[in-house]
Amino acid sequence: MTLQNQKKKIAILGSTGSIGTQALDVIRQHSDLFEAHTLTAGSNAELLVQQAREFRPDSVVIANESKYSYISESLADLPIKVYAGTSAIGDVATLPSVDMVLTAMVGFAGLEPTVRALQARKPIALANKETLVVAGEVITRLALENRVPILPVDSEHSAIFQCLSGEQGNAIEKILLTASGGPFLHYNDADLMAVTPKQALSHPNWKMGAKITIDSASMMNKGFEMIEAKWLFGVSPESIEVVVHPESIIHSAVQFADGSVKAQLGVPDMRLPIQYALSYPSRLPLGGDRLDLFRLGSLHFLPADQQKFRCLALAYEAIRQGGTMPCILNAANEVANAAFRRGEINFQHIATVIERTMQQCAFTATPTLDTYFETDAEARRIAAGFCRADG
Ligand code: NDP
Repeated sequence: MTLQNQKKKIAILGSTGSIGTQALDVIRQHSDLFEAHTLTAGSNAELLVQQAREFRPDSVVIANESKYSYISESLADLPIKVYAGTSAIGDVATLPSVDMVLTAMVGFAGLEPTVRALQARKPIALANKETLVVAGEVITRLALENRVPILPVDSEHSAIFQCLSGEQGNAIEKILLTASGGPFLHYNDADLMAVTPKQALSHPNWKMGAKITIDSASMMNKGFEMIEAKWLFGVSPESIEVVVHPESIIHSAVQFADGSVKAQLGVPDMRLPIQYALSYPSRLPLGGDRLDLFRLGSLHFLPADQQKFRCLALAYEAIRQGGTMPCILNAANEVANAAFRRGEINFQHIATVIERTMQQCAFTATPTLDTYFETDAEARRIAAGFCRADG
């Protein structure tokens, strides 16, 4: 199938979220090329119905089964199939008519449908980085075995992917993974103890879902991206350098064996990497602001402080240990991140809960897919206990 002769049918897993709604905006702008074939949501039934009425997909799924009757009644006048429950998300991702799956769900919940989509030989546009953090080895092996591409949606990984275009066979010497530093870049330890969820939820450069916004503030997001880059580009964690760049204009860069460094730049706008993943290898027009270097004047770079942002150090430690440790890291982070948002633990305790969970949870060096599910459940139980004790 080519972009020219037929619309690409996209299954958007997580269509009601920040990435999902921006992906639908891309599809709206290029409705001659793309079709929203299936839409899925966690529990936001109202927005899912609104999206279904506009985009007329083949099917919609709501993970929260209690919302099924509201959606099926609201769409009763349209020929749209309605399903509910988490396993239905994997079902629609594997429909023969689907050409590509955009994984825009948040958290560990994205793992199972991504595995099923790969087994069904669906190309993946991957936003759900937690899937690669938890099970990067299994996911990249499945992609290889089934000969399907995983196209990065994360802006940093899209930048690296764009820098690597035309460089087949040329070894990567170093990846420069840029980070905005989040809202607390210049805070000291005492300041960090006192930050509120409201402060942590206002990111200086990007408007994203709540969970990733907190991960950005703690820099766990950068740790996850380092692990994501390891699996997507086959590089060692030691060759990935985190560079704090508060303006978020350079989205990342690659250094090659001859010392040449290629970077990708642009104003922060997630629609660009989303669109590139959908249209690759073509570049399509995209409206919006353009980079104006004269107005910008200067760009700034700082090393990442792993003592202050312990989550980043924990991510390096988890990938160094390998096996199920990144899965434990992710599960504990999901629990601690949510507890912080509910005001149950303070910001600095996110890293403490994760560190203790990494010390206590059973570790497996060579996990199978089932091991990840068991480890995720155990790590969540342990982390929830530490959150209660800290609260
Ligand atoms: P949001 O929280 O905005 O959206 C998450 C989506 O997943 C929503 O559609 C939500 O449904 C759905 N969802 C949540 N939980 C479940 C569940 N248990 N089962 C099924 N569906 C569920 O997140 P973002 O869009 O910000 O992020 C999505 C992914 O993309 C994350 O992995 C994130 O790290 C990654 N990412 C995001 C970026 C961004 O700019 N936002 C940038 C780079 C990567 P509902 O609305 O009903 O809750």
